[in-house]
This record gives sequence, structure tokens and C-alpha cells, in this order.
Amino acid sequence: MNYFILDDLFERMASEGKTHFTPHYICERSGNSDPDRNSILEITQYLLSLCTKGTVVPLFDVECPGGDSDFTVSDPSLITEEPRYCSYCGMEYTPNPNRIWVSFNFTDEYKNHVKKKRGTCRTEPTPGPYSAEPLRSWSQHKSCGHPAIIRTW
Ligand SMILES: [Zn+2]
Repeated sequence: MNYFILDDLFERMASEGKTHFTPHYICERSGNSDPDRNSILEITQYLLSLCTKGTVVPLFDVECPGGDSDFTVSDPSLITEEPRYCSYCGMEYTPNPNRIWVSFNFTDEYKNHVKKKRGTCRTEPTPGPYSAEPLRSWSQHKSCGHPAIIRTW
């Protein structure tokens, strides 16, 4: 596993405003479209290590027997093993520890850090027809004022 690639990916996802993502999603976004159990475990462990660094917080999704993600909590001790009704399909069920899935959100601190680092630009400046031209000057990005490299012809 190349953790540099993951770190770049997290930065991109935070700037896209991505929330509530699963280790499986991270595998797919990092180019592993059919991850096995070990790859998912490895990514889960890396995400958990990022929790202690304040990059992400874990979320616990409780699944109903019909496969709906009924509800999500930030602390697994808030999940009581008492019968309840699924908020999606209405089925009565008791939360089962084997059907609780971990997912993650970026912390506000991390999102702010990425925002500052990357500016508010969502789009890269479009290269002109002479993109092989050498860079001639630095200027402000036209649409949002974010400092970016723009070629002038
Ligand atoms: Zn359901």
C-alpha cells in the first residue's frame, strides 16, 4: 500500500466536500476496483491511525437485515441491542454487532487545512491552445482569485 497516494486522495476528497466514506470506497478511488478483505483491512487500519492524528473521525453505520444503513453514530456505545424499526424499510430488528460497519468523515480541522492549502479553486486553469509554451508569468486565477499558475501567451 502506497500511503502517499492515499494522503493525496484524502486531500482531493476533502476539497471535493466528500463526507461519510467507507474503506471500500477509498480502495476503489485509489485504483483498486475489486479490493479483497486484506486491502480493505489495511485501509481501515490506516484510516483508524488517522483518527488519532485528527484527520478523520470514525462513524458506525448500523445495517438492518434488509441491508439499509438505518442509522449512524459516532460512538458505538450509543448502539443499544434493543428492537427498533428501520428508518428506511420499517422492518423491526435488533442491531447486530456483525452488521455494524465503520465509515469515516473528515474533521473540520482537516477540511480547513486543505481549504487553506488548496484555495477554493475546484477547476484547474484551462491550458490555451499553445500548452507547450513555456510558463511566462504568475497571475491570479481569473474566476476565483486563487493564486495559480496561468500561462500568458
Ligand atoms: Zn431496512
